[in-house]
Amino acid sequence: MRKRKAFTLIELVMVIVIIGILAAIAIPKYISLRTEARCAACAGNISAIRSALSAYYAKTAVSTGTQAFPASLHVSSFVHTYFSDGTLPVCPFHPTVHDAYDDAYNSASGVLDKTTHDTNQHGGVCNNTGAW
Ligand SMILES: [Zn+2]
Repeated sequence: MRKRKAFTLIELVMVIVIIGILAAIAIPKYISLRTEARCAACAGNISAIRSALSAYYAKTAVSTGTQAFPASLHVSSFVHTYFSDGTLPVCPFHPTVHDAYDDAYNSASGVLDKTTHDTNQHGGVCNNTGAW
């Protein structure tokens, strides 16, 4: 009788179980890395906006003698001067929303608060990742 070469059912089940275990480890890690990447990108956006606010403040002080922060982050002389595409960076958690940074900005003090933004727009996830 000729011996057939094939996998047994037990061997196939073992392989499927091992693939399942690897996927169960990899998928949560992937989701966690994606969140960390978004937090890091958002932190970069906030740094860019803060730098632009400082430049705007200094420029108004020099050119008008009265220093001031923009009344909102959407003032055209602010966004068109300090961002190359003429728009404010968007939060990577809400890429279609253009006012995600508004509620974390205080025009009187010029403060753009990361923690407030994270709490209001990301549900606080970035405060737990270490990437913030
Ligand atoms: Zn954000």
